Amino acid sequence: MSTDTDPHADTGLDPELEPQPEAGVEPERPEPELDPETVARRDAALAQIRSFGDPVLRTKARKIDRIDDALRDEVERMGRLMDDALGVGLAATQVGVVHRLLVYRVQQQSPLAALINPELEWSGRDTEAMEEGCLSLPGVHVEVDRPIHVRVRALNEFGEPIVIEASGLEARVIQHEMDHLDGVLILDRTSRDQRKEAMRTLREAQQAA
Ligand code: ZN
Repeated sequence: MSTDTDPHADTGLDPELEPQPEAGVEPERPEPELDPETVARRDAALAQIRSFGDPVLRTKARKIDRIDDALRDEVERMGRLMDDALGVGLAATQVGVVHRLLVYRVQQQSPLAALINPELEWSGRDTEAMEEGCLSLPGVHVEVDRPIHVRVRALNEFGEPIVIEASGLEARVIQHEMDHLDGVLILDRTSRDQRKEAMRTLREAQQAA
């Protein structure tokens, strides 16, 4: 996958927000006007996703040692939730399950990818800064600098070893979701100023709720 993928592919959350020119990762697919049904489905999905302040988001997930039908069901459920939330990636910790599973789909037509116990095997020296959002941080977009190319080893949902060579948005999404499995959020990977601004957005959203 290359960097020509539409970088808006995120889950933006806030319909009033201007579409972010560079929103990456979880938030906002490029749908400027969502129909009410889509919005309702998205909001219902977001309600099931843990948001900032929930300690589970700061927990390091444990390794998965059993790949069975129950896990495959979980992959399917996470895929549905991610789609409904208009996200392109979701980590198990974001739904309160503290084990090393993530799902993603960078292009709408692609099959859902599930990575179990992913390990970063290699990352290129070239990095790129891009705005990212996160389903667990509604309304927040911050710039995150990440390697453009990565190679990740994992197991798929059938327990088969896989190697993913990813670039651009796909590499970014995988790194973002792998961070979740270590309790790391985009707030930890951005500048002090952007973190401050993001914290204000989160505080305001919490007060409004
Ligand atoms: Zn996230």
